[in-house]
Amino acid sequence: MAKTPFVTRDQIEEIVKTYPTPFHIYDEAGIRKNAEAVKKAFSWNKGFREYFAVKATPNPYIMDIMNDYDFGFDCSSEAELVLAQAVGADGQHIMFSSNDTPEVEYRKAYDMGAIINLDDITHIEFLDGIIGKENYPETMSCRFNPGGVVTMSNGIMDNPGDAKYGMTEEQLFEAYRMLKERGVRRFGIHAFIISNTLTNDYYPMLAGKLFELAVRIQKEVGIEFAFINLSGGVGVAYKPEDTPNDIMAIGEGVRQQFEKILVPAGMGDVAIYTEMGRFMLAPYGELITKVIHEKHIYKEYIGTDACAANLMRPAMYGAYHHITVLGKENEPEDHRYDVTGSLCENNDKFAIDRMLPKIDIGDYLAIHDAGAHGYSMGYNYNGRLKSAELLLQTDGSVKLIRRAETLRDYFATLDITEYGSKLG
Ligand SMILES: *Cc1c(COP(=O)(O)O)cnc(C)c1O
Repeated sequence: MAKTPFVTRDQIEEIVKTYPTPFHIYDEAGIRKNAEAVKKAFSWNKGFREYFAVKATPNPYIMDIMNDYDFGFDCSSEAELVLAQAVGADGQHIMFSSNDTPEVEYRKAYDMGAIINLDDITHIEFLDGIIGKENYPETMSCRFNPGGVVTMSNGIMDNPGDAKYGMTEEQLFEAYRMLKERGVRRFGIHAFIISNTLTNDYYPMLAGKLFELAVRIQKEVGIEFAFINLSGGVGVAYKPEDTPNDIMAIGEGVRQQFEKILVPAGMGDVAIYTEMGRFMLAPYGELITKVIHEKHIYKEYIGTDACAANLMRPAMYGAYHHITVLGKENEPEDHRYDVTGSLCENNDKFAIDRMLPKIDIGDYLAIHDAGAHGYSMGYNYNGRLKSAELLLQTDGSVKLIRRAETLRDYFATLDITEYGSKLG
């Protein structure tokens, strides 16, 4: 399937008069339409809530769109908790799914009344030391790691046994016993076992596992589950040949497991939670960059004004991000290019051996599906500055939702040194 950008060359030529490239731009209409679909897909479940994974796109303007759907926020650091607070989230709208958590962050999450999702059994004693055994909140959750290797019907597999997250089944039973002793009354269970899945079977498969486990725990430990959290992992179609996930089919698949396992066990009032990041935002963000060089050596290179500091996934995971040469959507893709950034690192390539229309200096490229884990993974290597973020609003106007970094930002942490004044 052809991938069409949500902006045109004309639009970008207008926008760059105010905001120079490179920048990330987000499509509010697309975000809203998808959020509505997610809500509808799980509307059969009374307590359903999506907790948007803040790390995907930690911008309060984006987060505030999620507020309109009564979604919550999945946070795992102090900064993410502060962002959730800034957009007005109350404790029940914040899931603190952290790992290797510092004391101050547990303290902050606890003070905010966030739902704490424990990554490890030893964190119960750690929490005892922070808040005291008598002061546990009413609601707590634990993260499960099934171990081993999980294979899906379409061959997708992952290796939870190698992942640092969550507790073993045995630890999980013990953790719920310990939490019960500490007066916790409402419980949740959480697992995230495969990332970026492109199959409508992932959530239903995970739901089946978690539902069965929850039934056993509820019986054996004598506690009540208030929610079951399927976390993230729902993928997006990065490649044109990928079939996108169908969230309605996913919701229906989870419903069938729910009817089969939870309802007969008398657990039909359990709420389903999700913590999607990628699925909520990736397709609705694009990195827009201008072509500033072409280079002809042993290969053909296109040099852009963006780099891995703006979008790290290709360099970090070899991830595919589709590229559209704006204004050349209908031209034949008969040129083979490596599309590069300016870092002094040879993995700083947005695309390798990519067939694209003939590119000219001054062309604008839309790098697709950068709306999640895009800007947020950025860094400052080589003294490269992070770009602006823009929101293409539903009325077609553009709003600056984060300015681009300046050298002053880059040097700010040197202010305390004798060089501070020389660095502007
Ligand atoms: C990263 C993360 C998510 C979001 O994952 P996506 O693949 O972006 O949906 C959700 N929950 C936790 C705990 C995470 O670490």
